[in-house]
This record gives sequence, structure tokens and C-alpha cells, in this order.
Amino acid sequence: MEKKTEQYDVVIIGGGAAGLTAGIYCGRARLKTLILEKSLVGGLATYTNEIENYPGFPEGATGTELMGLFHKQAKKFGVDFKMTDVKSVSVDGDVKIVETFRIRYECKAIIIASGGKPRLTGAQNEDKYLYDKGISFCATCDAASNTGKTVMVVGSGDAAIEEGMFLTKFADRVIVSVMHEHGKMDCNEIAKTEALENPKMEFIWNTVVHSFEGEERLDTVVLRNVKTNELHKVLVDSCFLFIGYVPNTEIFTGMIDMNRNGYIRINDRMETNVPGVFAAGDVCDKFLKQVATAVGDGAIAGYGAEKYISECEVYENQILNHGKPSVVYLWNATDAACRELLPVMEAFEQAHSTEFRVTKVDVYKSPGLAARLGIDTVPAIAYVTEGKIRRVITENINEASLASLLS
Ligand SMILES: Cc1cc2nc3c(=O)[nH]c(=O)nc-3n(C[C@H](O)[C@H](O)[C@H](O)COP(=O)(O)OP(=O)(O)OC[C@H]3O[C@@H](n4cnc5c(N)ncnc54)[C@H](O)[C@@H]3O)c2cc1C
Repeated sequence: MEKKTEQYDVVIIGGGAAGLTAGIYCGRARLKTLILEKSLVGGLATYTNEIENYPGFPEGATGTELMGLFHKQAKKFGVDFKMTDVKSVSVDGDVKIVETFRIRYECKAIIIASGGKPRLTGAQNEDKYLYDKGISFCATCDAASNTGKTVMVVGSGDAAIEEGMFLTKFADRVIVSVMHEHGKMDCNEIAKTEALENPKMEFIWNTVVHSFEGEERLDTVVLRNVKTNELHKVLVDSCFLFIGYVPNTEIFTGMIDMNRNGYIRINDRMETNVPGVFAAGDVCDKFLKQVATAVGDGAIAGYGAEKYISECEVYENQILNHGKPSVVYLWNATDAACRELLPVMEAFEQAHSTEFRVTKVDVYKSPGLAARLGIDTVPAIAYVTEGKIRRVITENINEASLASLLS
């Protein structure tokens, strides 16, 4: 089957907090923007019952409410949404390709905001009970069906303990398996104190999951004491795993630079190692994975994509393919030598506007253009004809050296 091809300025992979924010920035910059989301617009945050630390919502908000607002705002700025799974990407060259089952999207920039998926324990029989058979990753989704029941929570980080406390509103017993010593948990101190005081919460310390058991549905979790290796059977109705996430980066393997755990390496502009490919949110190798930081990343990536596209256009249309020879003045407004040279350049531009096209590039605002020209010092002149850089002058730039370009 021949795939249909569609063109966009920016394609954003993933419609969570990071992708939606990037979409808001790109849409507002009037870029033709598409967000591809394979499961639920709003991403991971929609699985969270209460978000209390996102600024601007002093009463807190459910993840679904908050993400609903993000979604509405992205749509307001004209962002297109398609509910589909990205199968592959090709990032070489100026035209990037993002492919789904039916459509091949061509675009100028890609923003990877594909987040992560829950980490599994790797214990025996885990696959047999995933999702609707008793092992869950979402308290918001599955708490109500556990009303009056006994559930296990595996993990002791913020997500495990906060979602565990939420589960106590429904379940009669919430048994938490913690791999650390008695009293030691990975969550914040406030959550820890509240959880330890919660009469519905019980803790089994120094344990990891050995296996999951049950007929059709999970009914027993077998824990192993990490100190004694003793096995301990716990009867449960459901088990919630909150032991971290693994990034959704398989389709970028070998193309985009990642750390050893598969998180994408980015710089402070959210650029990956491939020009025109940005990453934002939980998919990145970064210190804090939260909605607030995903939003910051998305804003930078969206702004970066806009800059990248406009730099590509200047490079292609003004510098390389303008018909007449091009003189590029690379400068930085904060540099005294650059400022001094500015009137000389402007006089040159006026005198030779019929022979040359002069383009001034502020390297502070447009570092990408300087990088494309392969120039890392200012002031500098690049002389370009027929799409090729013929000469670069970085020293003794003056009327005489500029005039030498005429000969
Ligand atoms: C239980 C829990 C509680 C939390 N509580 C809080 C909290 O209180 N406060 C807070 O700030 N943060 C909280 N977080 C963290 C927060 O949810 C995340 O940091 C945030 O949602 C990350 O957003 P993101 O856009 O980077 O990724 P995600 O929200 O994971 O979005 C990525 C999206 O990409 C999609 N996707 C992936 N691969 C593809 C593909 N190939 N094609 C198309 N789409 C794809 C996914 O379906 C997903 O929707 C919590 C997380 C959990 C799990």
C-alpha cells in the first residue's frame, strides 16, 4: 500500500505535557504543527489523581483537568492532532520523515516528547496479569474497582506513596512492598510521614517481588526478603507497580544520542545531536521529571524549532540561493569590534547592493546559522557564490578586504 504523504513545519511525537507545550509555542509562532499521540492526549499526567505542585493551581487539579487545559490551548493555536503510533523516523537531511502505519509526514523539525512507560519488576508470571488481570500502573484508573479490597503497592518513591495514599480512599488495606530497611523510603518527607500515619497503609520492608500468582486473575504476590531470601505470600486483589519508568525511545535507537538507560541527551536548548531534532519532557536525560519541568522543556523545544526553521530559510533563500553573490557579516551586538565594523558593513552594503546581497547574522540570536557556515569567531565575513562558501575573512576586516571580494 502506497502511503499518503503530508507536509508540516513541525511534527511533535507525543501529546503529554511536554508535547502539548511545544505545540502551543509552535502553533502560536504560526508554524504548521502536528502532534502525534498513540494513546491519550495529556500523557502520563492524566493517570495522576491529584497534581498539587503545578504552579497556578493552589487548590490542586486532577491530571485530566490540567492536561485538558493544555490540549484546549494547543488547539486554539491551530495545532493538528492525530491519534496514531509513530512507527519510524528518518532524521538525515533537511527534510525529516515521521512515519505512522498509513501516513508519511515530511517536516522541517521534529520534537520528541514521547515520555516513558512504567518499569516492570521482571518477576515470574508478570506478563500474565498485566493491566486488566490484576497488575496496574494507574491508581486513578483502577482505584474505584478496588473499593473495600486489599491491594499491594510496589515501590516507595513519590508516585508509589502518593498514589498508595489515594488508594486508601477506596481499598481497605494498602500493603506497600519496600526494598529498603525499616522506615527508609524514596519519597519526600511529607508523603512519608503521612503514609506512616495512615491506618490503612501497611509496610513490608526489605522486600522485592519474587512472583505473581493466581488462576485467571492475580490473587497472590510472593515477596522475597532481600536479606534472608525468605519468601512471603501476600493475598491481594490487585497490585500497583510504581518502580519507575523506561523511556519510549526504541524507534530512535542508533539515530539520536542517548544515555545508557535510553534517555535522550539534550543541551540547554533541548537540541539533540541531530540538527532540527529536539527533545522535551520525561524522555530526556535530566534531573527532575515533573509536569512543571516538561512544560519548561516543551517551551524551549518549541521556540528552538521555530528558530531552527527560520534559520534554515535564511540560509537556503538568502545566503545560498539568492542569485547574486552573498556577503554574510557574522557579528554580536555585545562585541565592541563588531559594533565598530557595523558602519563599514552598512556602507559596503549601500555601495554594492547591485552586486552583492549582504546578510547580517547576529550569532547570539542565530548560533545555528554561524554553525552552518562553520564559523565560530566574530566579527567574520563569509563570501558565498553559487551555493558554496568561497571565502571566510576573520582578521583585518576593513574596506580594503571587503573590496577584495569584488575582484
Ligand atoms: C503516578 C504518577 C504521579 C505523578 N505525579 C506528579 C505530580 O504530582 N506532579 C508532577 O508535576 N508530575 C507528576 N508525575 C510526573 C508527570 O506525570 C510527568 O513528568 C509528565 O507527565 C511528563 O510529561 P511528558 O510529556 O514528558 O511525557 P508523557 O506524559 O509520558 O507523554 C508522552 C506521550 O507520548 C506518547 N507516545 C510515546 N511513544 C509514542 C509514539 N511512538 N507515537 C505516538 N505517541 C507516543 C505517549 O502515549 C504519551 O502520551 C507523576 C507521574 C506518575 C506516573
